[in-house]
Amino acid sequence: MTATRHHHSRGLGLTSSSVRGRLVDELRAQGIVDERVLATIGRIARHEFVEEALSSEAYKNRSLPIGHAQTISQPYIVALMTQAALAGATRLSKILEVGTGSGYQTAVLAEHAETVFTVERLRPLTEAARTRLQRLGYRNVHFGYADGMNGWTPYAPYDAIVVTAAAQTIPPGLSDQLAIGGRLVIPVGPNGAQQLKLIERSATGLRESVLASVVFVPLLAGRA
Ligand code: SAH
Repeated sequence: MTATRHHHSRGLGLTSSSVRGRLVDELRAQGIVDERVLATIGRIARHEFVEEALSSEAYKNRSLPIGHAQTISQPYIVALMTQAALAGATRLSKILEVGTGSGYQTAVLAEHAETVFTVERLRPLTEAARTRLQRLGYRNVHFGYADGMNGWTPYAPYDAIVVTAAAQTIPPGLSDQLAIGGRLVIPVGPNGAQQLKLIERSATGLRESVLASVVFVPLLAGRA
């Protein structure tokens, strides 16, 4: 990945590095403290992950439609989830993402892991994300067209699991696929009352905490 900061400070208008810098400042003001995560958000071209008509919206701190009734998450939430998954670590070995969507969160995670495994139940989204991340130069992402409700068995256990769709309750299959010391970040609850939860696995069991109130599309069973 090449840093575009400073190179394009003039001429690119609504997708320029200065616009990205303002987004990063906003996330910092909202309480994101991991500077490496902030740097990643400042570097990745989010406008590459939405259709061209939405380019001018790409560096606003909001979710955006990506087709198939799905959305690319709000940058603040992407930063919060990534920060929670990393917990101060410089780099994790294996991260599983459930809900590839546009591949934006995938790209952010891929900057902080040796390998990211990402699964998506809608085939067109998987294919588009795969093409997009290849074009952007990511070589450490494995895509699966699969239901990730209960994780992705072939590559378990994971140092972190990041779920980008809301579950009614925490699927036991997910926490089972955490390594000791691993962290699951997952939105849980019914529409209108979802909470972003962090589940940490130690040698003696699971510890759960609440990070934020959130709004996510539902985690659905089965491939479409
Ligand atoms: N991380 C994405 C967010 C996409 S929205 C991004 O940054 O763009 C959540 C995605 O989760 C949707 O694409 C939806 O199809 C997918 N999803 C929902 N339930 C799933 C399941 N059981 N397994 C895999 N993907 C799922």
